[in-house]
Amino acid sequence: MNPPFSGVFNDLDRVLLDRDQIQCRVDEMAEQIQAAHANQTITVVALMDGALFFVADLVRRIDLPIRLITLSASSYHGGTESSGSVDVSWNRLPDLKGQHLLLLDDILDTGRTLSLLRSRLLEAKPASLQIGVLLSKRRTRVAEVPVDYVGFEIDDEFVVGYGMDYQARFRNLPCIGVLEPSSPEAA
Ligand code: 5GP
Ligand code: MG
Repeated sequence: MNPPFSGVFNDLDRVLLDRDQIQCRVDEMAEQIQAAHANQTITVVALMDGALFFVADLVRRIDLPIRLITLSASSYHGGTESSGSVDVSWNRLPDLKGQHLLLLDDILDTGRTLSLLRSRLLEAKPASLQIGVLLSKRRTRVAEVPVDYVGFEIDDEFVVGYGMDYQARFRNLPCIGVLEPSSPEAA
């Protein structure tokens, strides 16, 4: 596909979304978000590390004043199954009272992460709170979350690339793909 990535692409079973598909959709999401927030300053609360590239691409396409806050959230602890507990770096959260919040994450999976973040952010009494994700998995949620912007709906499979990792690898892939089960990296 891309010469510098050819070795890494061998670890993928298949590409779900290529670079162009992702970039087109992120453009559309930015337009929607900008239209919904005319004349406002948006405080983006971005969940690291998975949403790193999604957020970086998205906020640079929004022509509005943006405050960007990153929080570290993790529920996978290294494997391909959600652990059920979510660790968040709450100490990085400033006062959000009266602000227009946009909570961004890479994937809506069980819903635990975003539902926890949502209740905590609402306690801060923001003027508004919207939620956006690049990917939403078609599956039963453990916790329901109202999401305002969804990039793509995908099947319930473990994906990597465009910021999303398996054991800290594959984040740098420009596409999103499913790991080859027989790959030594997926073992
Ligand atoms: P939830 O709390 O909704 O179950 O999980 C959301 C978090 O789990 C996401 O922020 C994401 O970091 C991680 N996650 C969920 N599914 C996947 C996946 O298929 N691949 C990767 N790399 N991370 C995932
Ligand atoms: Mg995450």
